[in-house]
Amino acid sequence: MQTPKELTPCLTMSERTILVWFRNDLRIHDNEILLEAIRKADKILPVYCFDPAYFVKNASCNSKTGSLRARFLIESVAGLRKNLQVLGGELIVRIGNPAVIIPQLAEEYHVNEVYHHREVAHEETEISEKVEAALWKIRLNLKHFIGHTLYHKEDLPFPIKDIPDSFAVFKKKVERDSDVRPCIGSPETISTPQIVDAGELPTLGELGLEEAIDDPRSGIRFIGGETAGLAQLALVFSNGNQTNTTKNQRNLPVTDHASMLSPWIALGCVSLRKLYWEVIKHQHAGNNQQTNALVLDLLWRDYFRFMFKKHGQKFIAKNQTPDTTEPDLNIDTAFESWKAGETGVPLVDAIIHELNATGYISKQARQIIATYLVNDLKVDWTKGAAYFEEKLIDYSPASNWGNWAFIAGVNDAKESRYVLPTKPVAELETKSDFIDMWLPALVVSH
Ligand SMILES: Cc1cc2nc3c(=O)[nH]c(=O)nc-3n(C[C@H](O)[C@H](O)[C@H](O)COP(=O)(O)OP(=O)(O)OC[C@H]3O[C@@H](n4cnc5c(N)ncnc54)[C@H](O)[C@@H]3O)c2cc1C
Repeated sequence: MQTPKELTPCLTMSERTILVWFRNDLRIHDNEILLEAIRKADKILPVYCFDPAYFVKNASCNSKTGSLRARFLIESVAGLRKNLQVLGGELIVRIGNPAVIIPQLAEEYHVNEVYHHREVAHEETEISEKVEAALWKIRLNLKHFIGHTLYHKEDLPFPIKDIPDSFAVFKKKVERDSDVRPCIGSPETISTPQIVDAGELPTLGELGLEEAIDDPRSGIRFIGGETAGLAQLALVFSNGNQTNTTKNQRNLPVTDHASMLSPWIALGCVSLRKLYWEVIKHQHAGNNQQTNALVLDLLWRDYFRFMFKKHGQKFIAKNQTPDTTEPDLNIDTAFESWKAGETGVPLVDAIIHELNATGYISKQARQIIATYLVNDLKVDWTKGAAYFEEKLIDYSPASNWGNWAFIAGVNDAKESRYVLPTKPVAELETKSDFIDMWLPALVVSH
């Protein structure tokens, strides 16, 4: 058997190697860390870690990451590996704590520096800090890049600490004073060191999950990866009108401009700038109403991320007033019935069944069931947010917790007109094709 030393690939010591730690940026196109690493180093070492911290049990005793999202993630990592291989590279895949794995690989491959994209939400930044500290012990630098927003932080018309808390003001100033950068293109070739053990992709079982079941009623099977994401992007703009695409794929309720790109955006399989410049191209073609709405959505996404950057966890804990009403003894039962789609409110239940079965629901649908949980059932909004974290294929910490906190009215974004006028339950529809389709559910995975 070979010793680790013998296994170590032959490297010329003068060669400069940069380890590119992929996280939620699983793409080749418009990926600054990849291009910059290729520019600065002779060899690059692309790495992805399946971190067990994302698969631990949540308060409902389910995995923090449900099977549908985990499958999408595995497919996305597989897609990245394939696209790197096409360019002559390889992706090292490991299951384990990045704070252990990244320094180990860095030593094994005589890496000079590690690059990664900085995240904003608490858990993600904590992981980066641990990796940074572990690398520091072996005298290596973790270089942070900012690449998860449409507008680059450095192009904002204000420093992070002065970002307006009101979405309306943020939007107005950013649109007036900032520009979205052009895409930076894709590398033509990638040179990785000779890799001894690239590692297998995990199965769902190895991540402690059950097989993902596709519900026949779902209008779309989200397939993870850059290639599938770019195909969806092309579909959105086919015929110059994304509305037709989504209406053909989906059943109500959907927003009339829903691109359904969110799962790919959440994992960075599709670059926001690429999407934005496609939008601009189609604006020139005259389809402004739909495309304006899409840009507005991207701004909401940026806003939530920048708010987390500015306030940290305080963004989702501010202005909380103690609940003075008597505790409702049935609150747990109410939450359980919400999760099971058994509240007795047909639209709410139908949406929950769709969420449980497919991992994707439209924005209005999210707003309806979140508002209902918070306002009508008086359940703590963080329980709903944790449930979405488990179920959504497109789960993205800042977007999920930011939107929930916003609906619960715990942050300043509430000045902005965002949430649709909330209808009392009695006025929610009780009969529609959508409700008929999802009640009773054929397949429900809790
Ligand atoms: C309670 C609640 C929880 C949510 N959780 C998530 C989440 O975990 N992940 C997520 O990506 N979105 C989340 N959203 C935002 C939004 O519902 C989804 O982004 C959108 O429905 C995805 O569908 P789409 O790709 O067709 O969006 P489109 O309407 O086509 O919008 C394009 C992109 O803009 C972004 N976006 C749109 N609306 C928002 C918004 N309000 N906040 C932040 N980003 C937005 C998404 O990346 C989306 O893909 C949540 C909304 C609510 C009300």
